[in-house]
Amino acid sequence: MLSVIITAAGSGTRAKLDKNKVLFDLNGETVLERAVKAFLPVEGLKELIVTANADDEKTFISLLSPLSDKIKVVLGGATRTQSVKNALDSVSGKYVLIHDAARPFVSNELIKRVVDKVTTAGSAVPVILSTDTLGFGNGKIESVRRNGCYRIQTPQAFETALIKKAYASITDSDDFTDDSGVYAKYIAPAETVEGEENNIKLTYPSDFAAKKSRVGTGFDLHRLVEGRKLILGGVEIPHNKGLLGHSDADVLTHAVMDALLSSVAERDIGYHFPDTDEKYRGADSMKLLEKVMEIVKKHGYKPVNVAAVVMAEKPKLMKFVPAMTENLAKALSIPAADVGITCTTLEGLGIIGEEQAIAVRCDALVETF
Ligand code: MG
Repeated sequence: MLSVIITAAGSGTRAKLDKNKVLFDLNGETVLERAVKAFLPVEGLKELIVTANADDEKTFISLLSPLSDKIKVVLGGATRTQSVKNALDSVSGKYVLIHDAARPFVSNELIKRVVDKVTTAGSAVPVILSTDTLGFGNGKIESVRRNGCYRIQTPQAFETALIKKAYASITDSDDFTDDSGVYAKYIAPAETVEGEENNIKLTYPSDFAAKKSRVGTGFDLHRLVEGRKLILGGVEIPHNKGLLGHSDADVLTHAVMDALLSSVAERDIGYHFPDTDEKYRGADSMKLLEKVMEIVKKHGYKPVNVAAVVMAEKPKLMKFVPAMTENLAKALSIPAADVGITCTTLEGLGIIGEEQAIAVRCDALVETF
């Protein structure tokens, strides 16, 4: 008793892809397959009609026919309105749900709400009440509205006889972007159901590039000895002791580097910059951080933020934190606001409390470009 139309005849020019955006791969299946699969379990489904442009027709058929024999691919038209009109000719169910293939994340719950509403009230359009103030104009704002403005989604459902009648009434001067507009003009205002924020319409290139993120963790400790400089985050800090090490022993920068390497599973700084290598004697750790950044970049990731805890009994580090933050932010190419440096003493306890060492723990979040 129910029919479904999935519109997929658009070319997706705004998505700047080299093919119809509904053929874009979403974790192993196309946008189109995912949208179609969402409707196959609908109770009482009689037929599922997919609109295609002539270029995609064969591809759609080979992708979709293995999924169900209820699926039928029909040619769309020059506009979405024309495509729906063509598809309606093939609809025989009492009710019809019309959905854009570019909304592949539609949930079973939303489909159920739409089906329940249309079978009891004759129409159903998912909407979200806009919390943004909406303005109307062309370059300049002519009028402003917020109360009562809806963001309209699909699937939209109607009694088949009525939506067919509405589509048959369309004239050349009409310009519709969805079915609720056609229905409102020629039949009646459609009933609403609650839409879903996740039911987004894939439109722009950024919609197709889901970002991946990873976390990493690092820890380092160096002995505090006399006769060495104390360098933390590339800042030389006046103190009667400094950190012992093969390089400049910048324990903060070392922990940051290890956190970054850990985020892309690239071992640790001992592996990349061995302390048996003379090349790294007295090395400026900030320079090594640049090399770590290259490694992270090679994996396709960039830092989002880092958060480090410096454990030191003495000296008081508070006034040096802004300079350390600034140095690390610059090296990581992120805002200073995304470098968190926390300092703590260990209450005089243990090797750190007794000023034999300084240790740093660091976490780093990285994401794909
Ligand atoms: Mg170290």
